[in-house]
Amino acid sequence: MAYIVLRRGKEDAERMCRAIMDVKEKIRTCSRCNNFSDSDPCRYCGPSRSAETICVVEEPKDILAVEKTGNITGNIMFCTARFLRLTVSGRRIS
Ligand SMILES: [Zn+2]
Repeated sequence: MAYIVLRRGKEDAERMCRAIMDVKEKIRTCSRCNNFSDSDPCRYCGPSRSAETICVVEEPKDILAVEKTGNITGNIMFCTARFLRLTVSGRRIS
């Protein structure tokens, strides 16, 4: 990435900085599953998803990977393993 920045002009570097800052300012974690998202709840925790069946993944990036398999057809809610450890009986214990 350093070589790309060095080969590009100052304007491109400034655009890249703004894009990184936009991500830092707009992306949060979903309060239901700990996924990274610009909305809360995230798109995977929308009203069509039920908390009766939970798919536990290690990292937020794994949610997209599982979704891309196309094997998720029911009302399955995602939860990251880290979020699961921090939450007991619906109460955050971190
Ligand atoms: Zn979510």
